[in-house]
This record gives sequence, C-alpha cells and structure tokens, in this order.
Amino acid sequence: MDETCDIAVIGAGAAGLAAGIFAAQRLPAARVVLMDGAAQIGAKILVSGGGRCNVVHRSVGADDFNADQPFVRHVLSAFDQDDAIRWFESLGVLLKQEPTGKLFPTTNRARTVLDALLARCRELKIQVLRQHRVHSVDAVGDDDGDEPRFAIHHEAGIVTAQRVVMATGGRSLPRTGSDGQGWRIAQSLGHSVTPTYPALVPLVLEPSFFHRTLQGISQEVELSTYQGGKQIDRRRGSLLWTHFGVSGPVVSDASRFWVIAQTVGKQNGDRAQVRCNLVPSADFQEIDRWLVAAAAHSPKRGAVSVLSEKLPQRVASVLADQAGVDRNVSIGQMPRDDRRKLVHYLIDLLLPVVRDRGWNYAEVTAGGVPLQEVDYRSMASKRIKGLYLIGEMLDCEGRIGGFNFQWAWSTGHVAGCAAAASLS
Ligand SMILES: Cc1cc2nc3c(=O)[nH]c(=O)nc-3n(C[C@H](O)[C@H](O)[C@H](O)COP(=O)(O)OP(=O)(O)OC[C@H]3O[C@@H](n4cnc5c(N)ncnc54)[C@H](O)[C@@H]3O)c2cc1C
Repeated sequence: MDETCDIAVIGAGAAGLAAGIFAAQRLPAARVVLMDGAAQIGAKILVSGGGRCNVVHRSVGADDFNADQPFVRHVLSAFDQDDAIRWFESLGVLLKQEPTGKLFPTTNRARTVLDALLARCRELKIQVLRQHRVHSVDAVGDDDGDEPRFAIHHEAGIVTAQRVVMATGGRSLPRTGSDGQGWRIAQSLGHSVTPTYPALVPLVLEPSFFHRTLQGISQEVELSTYQGGKQIDRRRGSLLWTHFGVSGPVVSDASRFWVIAQTVGKQNGDRAQVRCNLVPSADFQEIDRWLVAAAAHSPKRGAVSVLSEKLPQRVASVLADQAGVDRNVSIGQMPRDDRRKLVHYLIDLLLPVVRDRGWNYAEVTAGGVPLQEVDYRSMASKRIKGLYLIGEMLDCEGRIGGFNFQWAWSTGHVAGCAAAASLS
C-alpha cells in the first residue's frame, strides 16, 4: 500500500512517539505517520523499569550521559525533566518520586505510560502503522529538486514524506524490534555509525568464582574499571550477586566502560579489569587499623563476625574462604599476613569478568550516529535536508535511573517541533 504524508517517523518507541506527538501538536494540519516494524507498539516501554517504567529522574544533567556534553546540555535545556513531568501530567500520567530520585507512574504500571502516549496519538489523528518494517529510505527531492522528499520502502509498500524522523533505537533487547537496522538506513543516507556496544548490562563472572553462593545478596560497593592498568571509571552504588555474576545499578553503569575497554583492549593485548571495594571509600590502612583495633578490643571475637559489621555476613564468610583465611579463627589469633590478605580482598577484589550478558540483557546501546552529524537545535541531519535523528540510535546513552527515556522525550520534542516548524 503506498501512502503520502507530511512527516513520517520511523520507529514508534519512546523517542518516535514523542516526536510524532510534538509534531502533530505544533502543526495540526500536518499528516503525521508513525511507522514501526513491530506488531505491538511500545514493547520496550512495557518492560522498562521492571514493568513500572522509570519515566524520568528528578535531577538530570549533561553529566548523566556518556556523550558530547554541550550538545546534551542544549537538548536538555529545550525540554528538561520538569517539562517531561508536566507533559506526562497533561497526558493524565501522574508520577511519583522514589528516594533514589527516579520517577514512576503512580499506578506502578508501564502500561499507563504507553496507553497515554497512544491515546494522545489517536487524539491528534496520528496514523500509527504497525508491522511496517522499513527496509530503505531514498532522499528523492521534490519535482523541482528544491524541497526534500523521501520514499520510505517498507514491507508492504512505499510511504512518501516531506520530512523523516528516524527513531529506530539501538540494538538493546532486539526482540522488541530494535535490531540496528536503522543504522544501516542512516548509513545509506550518508551518516556514519560509531562502533556499538551493549551498555547498562550485567556482567558474567568466571563460573569458578564465588558469586553463585552469594546469589540474591546486594550490597553497597565501589567499582573501578581499568584499561591497560589505568583507571578509566570509578563509581559507587548497589551491586547484586547473581547466579551468573554481578548485576545492580553500579554494575549497569560501569558495564559500558568494561565492555568498551575489553573490546578495544583485545586488539592491543590490554585486558580490561573490574576491581571492587566492598567497603566503599575505605582504603587499605583504614581497614587494617580497624581490624587491629578490633583484635585488641575483643580478641576472642570471630573474624567473620567482625567483618559482618561492614558487609553482609555471607559475603564476609565467603571472602574469608577466598582469602584462604580460616573462617572460624578469632580475630585476636589471626596471623598478620592473613589479616593483610583479607584486607586486600576487601578493598581491592578483582572480579573475573568473562563477558557482558549480551544484547538481550542490555538496557541501552553505547555508540551510534555521532552527535556532530546532527544539529542540536533541531536534531536535523547535517547530511540530508529534511531528515532528523533522535533517541537511542544516536551516540549518546545515559546512566541508569530514567535518563535514557529523558533523552528520548527531549530529542523527540526537539525534532518533532522542528520538523513541523520547517513545514509551517
Ligand atoms: C529491559 C529494559 C528496561 C529499561 N528501563 C528503562 C527505564 O526504566 N528508564 C529509562 O529511562 N530507560 C530504560 N530503558 C532504556 C529505554 O527503554 C531506551 O533508552 C528507550 O526506549 C529508547 O527509545 P527509542 O525510541 O530511541 O528506541 P526504542 O525504544 O528501541 O524504539 C525503536 C523502535 O523502532 C522500531 N524499529 C527499529 N527498526 C525499525 C525499522 N527498520 N522499521 C520500522 N521500525 C523499526 C522498533 O520496533 C522500536 O519500536 C530500558 C531498556 C530496557 C531494554
């Protein structure tokens, strides 16, 4: 079936839905079409935030993103978290803030968010074309060659549009329809794509390591990532021990650094390392002094019981085993070398990461179309007139906590308004 429209948005995920809605609001006379390959729209929104959808964060800054900082700052200033919160309220989605600063719908259901976005599309008479997987886009120009015009080839025909917004996402959770095909289309239109990596992804540890015995325990730690012996990232937060390795917010945020360092390092023989301080902020001397003081104060107390003041008891026991220290020894009888070895394990534990958990478990993609190829004022392509690029397909990803949706809403707002304004 062949159709014509003013603005075609390819990809009806978070960014595409926002772009379509803002375009149609800005220019009600425009015919706006959303095209998506999936049979069900918004699968990723539905699974987000554990099914609750962490829509946004209370406090969002450019430094919450791994990307060109001035670019991100400009985009956020055009549509920030307060704008997003007000926008969702206007759609009937009330948000509540959790102590971490994350905001979720008061219903605790991601479905509320998706339903509200789709209802607004219906109100604005935006045509949502499901099962319209796009294979290629030709920039054909109008008859005079002055104005942009695009022929969008999809599985059931061609859609012709004056403006195209590409919002095809990255490669995270490919079963939702985001499998990287959008980048090939962008490349065919003259854009480049930087290497892409799974990010916000759990890390798999060597099977012989002790993580399995600690499955289900979470604790505050400090993680440092090294490449070629140089520290490239350090952060503090909650780590969850799992049957395959480690997960939790601090691991998610650190993962992109390990994944990229490991991939790049493979080429020049530099292995990446993740080291864990189980007593965040403390250093070797401090912990050693603390154990010496504990030995002087209550020498008959078990070493594991002392350690349990600073970390979960099961972790303390397993760590003593790992360090080769008798877990039943009293703190007063622990030999100096054992104590120092234990301290070393406590504050500088090497996590034997063998791989990340892959695209099926990654929440987002690191890498994509470079931001330098896009105008931050409009999200317009600098290569092809009339084309806009937004959301996760760009080389920008946020940390965990609602920042990636913020990027989708903000870039969607900027592109939707700009595409409509360019027609009006
Ligand atoms: C499990 C999980 C949980 C998450 N939780 C959160 C959270 O709570 N908070 C948060 O901020 N972020 C979260 N994220 C990240 C967030 O979901 C994404 O960053 C965001 O959805 C990206 O939006 P997008 O519109 O750019 O891309 P996507 O949501 O990936 O949408 C892209 C759309 O394009 C379509 N498409 C792709 N190629 C084509 C094609 N060739 N033709 C037609 N259509 C195509 C796809 O079907 C898809 O619908 C989570 C991600 C995952 C995987």
